[in-house]
Amino acid sequence: MTIDEHRRIAGWLREAAHAVAFTGAGISTESGIPDFRSPGGIWSKSKPVYFQEFLASAAARREYWRQKCVAHADFAAASPNEGHRVLARWEAASRLRGVITQNIDGLHQDAGSRNVLELHGTARKIQCLGCHRLFEPQPLVDQFLASGDVPDCPECGGLLKHATISFGQDLSPEVLAEAGRWARECDLMLALGSSLVVEPAASLPRLARAAGARLVIVNRDPTDQDDAADAVIHESIGKTLAEIDQCVTCP
Ligand code: ZN
Repeated sequence: MTIDEHRRIAGWLREAAHAVAFTGAGISTESGIPDFRSPGGIWSKSKPVYFQEFLASAAARREYWRQKCVAHADFAAASPNEGHRVLARWEAASRLRGVITQNIDGLHQDAGSRNVLELHGTARKIQCLGCHRLFEPQPLVDQFLASGDVPDCPECGGLLKHATISFGQDLSPEVLAEAGRWARECDLMLALGSSLVVEPAASLPRLARAAGARLVIVNRDPTDQDDAADAVIHESIGKTLAEIDQCVTCP
């Protein structure tokens, strides 16, 4: 990718009044978090527990917690990379409205992003399905690992689950509506590390394009929407954003 391409995208970012980033697993794999759906990812080794199974079966809840404790260790070991940090800096400098993410790892917030819409929830909290209270995961993970017993809500005895959207579980209508609003109101969308195949990931760039926004795609592999984008870069997100950032600050 040429420096001219980075300069061109930096120019769009400077011009934009409502730029929005949309991020998928690709930005977090650069922090060492496995892409669950990729070969070698957790879903190639374990079958995901669907939400209905979780509700219906104690054995499914135990399997869910076993898998989540593995993922918890990956998340705890990860820290944000340059891609996360550049987005946080752009938000702080009012160049970016915020980040819509498919990721559940909390690394955008760790990097300093404040306006983050988590389409698939967050693994940084445990939530009770009965009283909806939120809990810190570590003590409950420790409790499960020590006893093998799935913990119940300490307040109401209800079922405890990570505050993520499971397979078979509906996305939050509020978060989804807000993401759609950001997409329609943006004048530049940066789609980073998502193959843009699954919904709603596939729709958000289309909404933005339909409303007249420019679309920039950065992803290791080609995506379904490369043809519709104003610029496409198949390289590391951290490296690419750092280079664009240099062009933004020193045109
Ligand atoms: Zn409860």
